[in-house]
Amino acid sequence: MSDISLPKPSHPLPEWLNPERWLASIVESSEDAIIGESLDGVIMSWNSGATRIFGYSAEEAVGKPVTMLAWPGEEARVEAYLERLREGQRVDHFEVLRRHQDGHRVIVSLSLSPIMDNTGSIVGIAKIARDLTAQRNATDLLAERDSQLAVMTEQEALARAETVFERRFHELLEYAPDAIVQVDGQGRIVVANHSAEQMFGYSRPELMQLRVEDLMPEGVRHGHDRHRADFMAANRTRPMGHGLDLYALRKDRSTFPVEISLSPVRAGEDTFVTAVIRDVSQRREAESRMRELQESYMAELRDRQAEAERLNRLKSEFMASISHELRTPLHTVIGFAELLAEETEAQLSDRQRRFLTHIRKDSEHLLGLINDVLDLSRIEAGGLTLHTESLGLHAVADEVVESIRPYAESRSVSVHLAAPMDFDVLADRLRLRQILTNLLSNGAKFTPSGGSVTVHARRDADMVEVAVVDTGVGIPREESGRIFEKFYQVGYTPVGVREGTGLGLAICRQLVEMQSGRIWVESEPGQGSRFIFTLPAASL
Ligand code: ADP
Repeated sequence: MSDISLPKPSHPLPEWLNPERWLASIVESSEDAIIGESLDGVIMSWNSGATRIFGYSAEEAVGKPVTMLAWPGEEARVEAYLERLREGQRVDHFEVLRRHQDGHRVIVSLSLSPIMDNTGSIVGIAKIARDLTAQRNATDLLAERDSQLAVMTEQEALARAETVFERRFHELLEYAPDAIVQVDGQGRIVVANHSAEQMFGYSRPELMQLRVEDLMPEGVRHGHDRHRADFMAANRTRPMGHGLDLYALRKDRSTFPVEISLSPVRAGEDTFVTAVIRDVSQRREAESRMRELQESYMAELRDRQAEAERLNRLKSEFMASISHELRTPLHTVIGFAELLAEETEAQLSDRQRRFLTHIRKDSEHLLGLINDVLDLSRIEAGGLTLHTESLGLHAVADEVVESIRPYAESRSVSVHLAAPMDFDVLADRLRLRQILTNLLSNGAKFTPSGGSVTVHARRDADMVEVAVVDTGVGIPREESGRIFEKFYQVGYTPVGVREGTGLGLAICRQLVEMQSGRIWVESEPGQGSRFIFTLPAASL
């Protein structure tokens, strides 16, 4: 402290004003801690202010390292200040945390300055520490109050948000397109929204005077008390009158269709029922318009179908009659051609014989065509009656094989039954012959020379399944359904065999189906065909 100089007194000072004592008393009476430290951080002097702030007495402090005042963990920082001071720098008014002897936290503002001797070299450190703890605590308190205030405003904001939410929710309920009413245990209306007023035509005060039954048509009021009690007891949300057409009653006594959803609401001891009521007049109207439209379409469809069936019948009748008319002169042509061929009247030249053969062949073909058309027309017009009886399949099939054989052999195709057929079927003999004849002659017709046509049969439950199997040209899979249509012939059928009418299989299908059977084909091009039909078995 030798560098501290006092103003030179202009006249002799009294003893008590001796500079050292004067200084010592200032230091002692200072509120601040005034501490002298050696350059290596050992406490050299300690005033009563230091004792007051840090707790240690001068005896306890002097000779101890200054780091004992550091807040635990801050020792390195204390060292760093010492370093700066050793280099001759001052450190003014910086706030640090220090530790009181009893361990509590002390906040001080520090000013440090180097102490120099007469030669100007640094010999120690003067430290003044002002206690800011009380001040800081007051600031903390303020900060705490501020944050409390902030909490309050947060709560206010929350409260405000809740109010907005409630208002929106209220608006939502109020203007929901559905009427919403709440009734108490006695059925009195206690809440009603704006839509309820609109829907029922009552003002809200009027609604509050009503019981829920007043909003129902008279016919359904009876017993509603009990329904309501049951619903409250069950205590679960559900639609009302499931599967029923519900109606509601307006103030003007008009009714309208509604859908109602009910939910129970408990409030303390009481149970209320909330009913959401939807006016479904428009939907019902649209539904009934749709129904009317659908019905009128259906009626039109039925009319058109009836008309189509009538025209089809007319066409078939016309075909039947025209075929009949054509057949008569054709028989005459064939008859006279046969007479001529007998050459009883005169010898014919070779040319004339050839002409006659053409006339007979084409006339017979024409007759075949007319017979097919006639058959199909009769079937379609419902004019064909069947004489169903129990028939031995073997005999009928054998007859047909024999009748086809000459034609098949003329094409070098063999035809035979695969095995004896010990089955009785329920069928019309003539029509069964016709089916088999068609299938066998097709087989012979579409099988190249050297091939074969075989008839198989087997029992399948209460049906007998007959298969006509050939080794012929086969049928592409995509055609196998269409060949049973009228006039359909497979496109690639070899030239020379296109002599049919395209009616044979159509007739077969009609005849089989009329006798409760089915007919189909299994075939691949080049792999032969297997035509299968079923007929009811006559015996078990
Ligand atoms: P079509 O008088 O032409 O024989 P169908 O109705 O009997 O008339 O047969 C229709 C068509 O089905 C035939 O033109 C032919 O293309 C095909 N088809 C019928 N049977 C056979 C068969 N066994 N093998 C190959 N194709 C056949």
